[in-house]
Amino acid sequence: MFTRQDRLKIFNQKKKKVERRTNKEGIITEKVIPGFENTTFEQFEEWFDETTFNQGCNYCGTTNHRSLELYQMQRAGLRPDATRGGKRGKRLELDRVDPRQPYDNLQNLVWCCYWCNNAKSNFFTAEEFKPIAVAMRAALSAI
Ligand SMILES: [Zn+2]
Repeated sequence: MFTRQDRLKIFNQKKKKVERRTNKEGIITEKVIPGFENTTFEQFEEWFDETTFNQGCNYCGTTNHRSLELYQMQRAGLRPDATRGGKRGKRLELDRVDPRQPYDNLQNLVWCCYWCNNAKSNFFTAEEFKPIAVAMRAALSAI
């Protein structure tokens, strides 16, 4: 059950970010992390559907509950930790089916487990990713 606060947190985490860093030579570099630019929280709220979220990863079917279990195994040291310092995998993530589309195209967004999101990256189309998702489902179920 999501509260408005939960949805707001998800929305804010997915806003476009620009990270500025200063290297040893004093040169400022920028890293753009894609996310919502023009989408309002109200539009996100309209798009957000808890039933769809509860169906799990759009690709492999891993549920949010299972994602959390896998996350906790890693954080507890029961498995090698691939959570990037606890930042990834705690819950299902937003994925762009077509990664060339902006996040603002809400019809292009699906829920996705960290593992599929990481493997699909910006490289595979949803169609190309299908056989990988089948294998991902089998591999994650076996843990
Ligand atoms: Zn998945």
